[in-house]
Amino acid sequence: MSLVRENLLTQLNYTPYCGNASCVFGMPRTAFNGNQMECRCGWQSQFEPEFIEQYKAAQVELKQNEKAGAV
Ligand SMILES: [Zn+2]
Repeated sequence: MSLVRENLLTQLNYTPYCGNASCVFGMPRTAFNGNQMECRCGWQSQFEPEFIEQYKAAQVELKQNEKAGAV
C-alpha cells in the first residue's frame, strides 16, 4: 500500500496534495468531494470505488476515536 493510501486510512481528515504538476494553485491539499479527492484546479484523484469506501469507513472510525479521546 502506498504511503498516501496508508495516511488516508489512518489520519483523520487527511487528503493528499493535488497531482497536477501544472496546478495553477500551486498543488495545495485536495478536498474530498464524496467520491474522489479534488483540487480547485479541477484535478481529481483516481482511487477505485472500493478504496474510497474503505477511506470513508476509516474516517468515520477515526472521528469516533477522536471524540472518545482514544487517539
Ligand atoms: Zn490543483
